[in-house]
Amino acid sequence: MAGGEIVFSGMRPTGRLHLGNYWGALKNWVELSRAHTCYFCVVDWHMLTTGYEDTAPLQDNIREMALDWLAAGLDPARCVIFKQSSVAEHAELALLLGMVTPMSWLRNNPTWKDQLQELAKTRVGLSASKPESVRIIPSLGVTSVGSAFVRPEEDEGDVERRLVSSEGNSEGNYGFFGYPVLQAADILLYGGTLIPVGQDQLPHIELAREIARRFNSIYGQVFAEPKPLLTPAPRVQGTDGRKMSKSYGNGIELAEGPESLKAKIMGAYTDPKKIRATDPGHPEPCPENPPGCSIFALHKLYNSDEYGKKGWRARREECMQGRIGCVACKRDLLTHLEGPFRDFREKRESIERRTGEVERIFDEGARRARAVAAETMKRVRRAMRLA
Ligand code: SF4
Repeated sequence: MAGGEIVFSGMRPTGRLHLGNYWGALKNWVELSRAHTCYFCVVDWHMLTTGYEDTAPLQDNIREMALDWLAAGLDPARCVIFKQSSVAEHAELALLLGMVTPMSWLRNNPTWKDQLQELAKTRVGLSASKPESVRIIPSLGVTSVGSAFVRPEEDEGDVERRLVSSEGNSEGNYGFFGYPVLQAADILLYGGTLIPVGQDQLPHIELAREIARRFNSIYGQVFAEPKPLLTPAPRVQGTDGRKMSKSYGNGIELAEGPESLKAKIMGAYTDPKKIRATDPGHPEPCPENPPGCSIFALHKLYNSDEYGKKGWRARREECMQGRIGCVACKRDLLTHLEGPFRDFREKRESIERRTGEVERIFDEGARRARAVAAETMKRVRRAMRLA
């Protein structure tokens, strides 16, 4: 692994990733792994904080996500790729950090406060629902990743987990209430100093810093304080014009096949006021087309303007001046998407064909992660006079 800072990040295993996940987090991970010592973790325990009732798809989701990570360019020779549940020290450290974490800090967690607000709004509905029903709380930005924490902000979809069942769980579960402590443990276990996050995850990193500071002030210096790394990421629109999210069902998967890719692009949201090719369009967000055109947003990502007229800037001018229609514009976008999507699928399939490859990578990653985590826990136990 490279030197530099120690980077820790994770993703909740939600299955196949979409373009929002790639441009919002994964692309950045690949770049970070070239310059820093990186730990990338499938935070399967975090998944349980909101998705504990249905674990049947968990293993498939972990594998599908790992294949996307690898096909996108995460190289196990350059970073440690592992599952959180393979390193029991995450749980031990979370337990011990929980001893020094005031509950008021967790109650002030914006995600928790959002949840309580949503619960207050839905309480009447909850009491009337059937025992097995669940409430979806779309505004709950539980995320993931963040330290995990890359919560993938795009994964508001994650939020539509079964957060609150109707029976006896009207204030959420202890695991969810305490997940910022588990996030802190994830980060601090590896001496993570640089944590790639989205803006909405900043409070969680601040909480991890507070927990580290409090632990150090009581037991002596053990933990380095992590710093957030805010990397500007393009907002990836889904096919309906909203932010791309699994929960909205508007995603384009990284491994999308050619037919479904074509169908999604040809059916994507554009500018409702541009009926004829000669109508002037509004490709970017503006009062006339508040979300902006989904197709144009993808042109900006995949249609480089280095070839002058063929680039996204030329498309923008043609659209605004009524010199191109949406069908032609979509077909043009497809020509720019076909190559990258084909390359991704081929790489993914070749990894998938290598029997046991993902499992080997996880095993090796867990071995390397455990070695670091065990050393940290020795220091923690000594500091707390537990050993
Ligand atoms: S011409 Fe292209 S950029 Fe303009 S609204 Fe249609 S699809 Fe969007």
